[in-house]
Amino acid sequence: MNARARIATLIFGLGLFGVGGCLLPARSKQIDVEPIGKIAVGDDAVARFVGALELKTISYGEPEKFDPKPFLEFHDYVAKAYPNAHKNLSLRKVNKYSLVYEWRGSDASLKPVLLMAHFDVVPVVAEDWSRDPFGAEVAEGYIWGRGTLDDKINVIALFEAAEHLTSRGYQPERTIYFSFGHDEEIGGTNGAKAVAAMLDDSDIELEFVMDEGLAVVEGIVPGVDGQVALVGIAEKGYVSLELTARAEGGHSSQPPPQTAIGILSAALAQLEKHQVPGSLRGPSGEMFAWLTPHMPYGMQIVFNNKWLFGGLIKSQLAAGESSNALLRTTTAETIFHAGIKDNILPTEARAVVNFRIHPNDSLESVKRHVAKVIDDDRIEITVYGDWPSEPSPESSTDSAGFRLIQKTIGEVFSDAIVAPGLVVGGTDSRYFQDISDDVYRFMPVVLRSEDLSGIHGTDERVSVENYKGAIAFYIRFLENTGG
Ligand SMILES: [Zn+2]
Repeated sequence: MNARARIATLIFGLGLFGVGGCLLPARSKQIDVEPIGKIAVGDDAVARFVGALELKTISYGEPEKFDPKPFLEFHDYVAKAYPNAHKNLSLRKVNKYSLVYEWRGSDASLKPVLLMAHFDVVPVVAEDWSRDPFGAEVAEGYIWGRGTLDDKINVIALFEAAEHLTSRGYQPERTIYFSFGHDEEIGGTNGAKAVAAMLDDSDIELEFVMDEGLAVVEGIVPGVDGQVALVGIAEKGYVSLELTARAEGGHSSQPPPQTAIGILSAALAQLEKHQVPGSLRGPSGEMFAWLTPHMPYGMQIVFNNKWLFGGLIKSQLAAGESSNALLRTTTAETIFHAGIKDNILPTEARAVVNFRIHPNDSLESVKRHVAKVIDDDRIEITVYGDWPSEPSPESSTDSAGFRLIQKTIGEVFSDAIVAPGLVVGGTDSRYFQDISDDVYRFMPVVLRSEDLSGIHGTDERVSVENYKGAIAFYIRFLENTGG
């Protein structure tokens, strides 16, 4: 059963208890915005996107596979495709491949804003695709190819918007930076991290940052039928823990009650059984607070009375993978190694468990949870890999930045309900937390659940309409932000 059906069952169940009717509906947090007329975007914009998609700017897990050529070709390509933007904005290259543009505003007293995206993409398994992943075919109303959603669309739509505005002589009052990373898919250490350090060294404090993360979704949020524009106000942290069990080796004819494999397996079973506790506090709770007024009345009553129904809501959300991830730090057992021969007792068994840390938890609290649940000193617990990160702080929904995003969404995606949300993956924007109080994660694209499989997967595509909508959003957003 999906989360929506489960919640419907829950409400139906509550109806039987006769709790409806006496409780007040929630008040909407949406703002009144005049929708703007359609911003015309021509098919020439599609052709320019195609050219960028054809370049194989792939980030491989193995650094020796890195090919600089397509990255440098990408630099030349955008410079040629967007001449006016390149005339009006100054460009710095960071660690050779990442691009930082400064669009200097006329009023130096205004704190700058930074919009970011990345032009590297993940590798493809070409034989699984129904089209050439780097062919950028335009067919059936879609543009097909790696990067159409993650994340060249945001890079190119921003260039289109900047070209559109500079060609018309637009000059912002507020300085706007674009930061286009080349290594987001492998951690962003040479790109976004270095860009943030460079701005920090120049004592630049940002009004807000906007990166990829969430989007305008349709048919994905339980309880809301229409479009929901989810603006990420926080993202989860990341840690993998390696568990190593050691035991006496020897011949398998006279085994002890538990081998290293048995010891480790028991621990892993405990970890799956005793998940890190979840909570409706924090960004996911805020999301529901914003959405509740737009849910059917029965659901409003449930979400407005968490003191009564909190436990029920939590158990319903916990039953679906995507909604469970919004509630808690997730536990994913991803690697297991042990044993060399069927008649030899293993002296060691190793497993790796990946945790995506909810903003209510921390690296330390997750480690404590694991040690407590396993409670076995035959197992050593160490941090695995070099990507551990704390969850991000929560950005405000009552800031100039959030209001600008909300207003522009209202102007361009006038049917969408805006709500803050939690990003369960990681983005490059985490590096900017020290130079900006507010970091938002939103891409102006309408996604349905069938679109999600293309991201890092097969047959990634975006509709032409969606791509043009992203350009329209950025044109308006730059005008609203620049003043
Ligand atoms: Zn991405």
